[in-house]
Amino acid sequence: MSEPYTGRCDTCGARFPCALVHNGFNDSAFAYCEQCGTAGFVSAWRDDIPREAHFEAHGPVSAATESLLAPCSCGGRFRRDAAPRCASCHSALSATAAASWLEAQAPGAAKGWRWQRSWQGLYSLIVAGRSQQLAWAPARASAESDPAASPRPRLEPDDPTEGGGRWRSRGT
Ligand SMILES: [Zn+2]
Ligand SMILES: [Zn+2]
Repeated sequence: MSEPYTGRCDTCGARFPCALVHNGFNDSAFAYCEQCGTAGFVSAWRDDIPREAHFEAHGPVSAATESLLAPCSCGGRFRRDAAPRCASCHSALSATAAASWLEAQAPGAAKGWRWQRSWQGLYSLIVAGRSQQLAWAPARASAESDPAASPRPRLEPDDPTEGGGRWRSRGT
């Protein structure tokens, strides 16, 4: 699903190992952390994709999926329009500048393969092995805006004839 490449930062000149992921073959959608550039993936085969994510594979995550994602371990958000970043200076990499080193190394380039020159196409780039499976945010907006939908975790069944109203009035 990916090939080893040597990337080059167009800001500081550092070189770093990277890999291209074809999100079509991989049946996945991706987003980059806006702060550290980690590549995050959601496989179309996962069974925990919320219906409201309006999930679509084979490219950047949909806007609805993006809004449900848990943040990166660095504190940044995974965005569908963010970019991978240099492993040394953390500058966002240029998708057009990457064409020079990707096409020089890609086995298919001799047969006409061209880099997509965008971070929002079929391919995503993993810099220095920094990738992860994307997680869903634990407290989703739907649960927070409707407290009645999340029942109290401990209801002692000592008085089953009493309705839920009594339990709800207890805390107030
Ligand atoms: Zn991050
Ligand atoms: Zn750099």
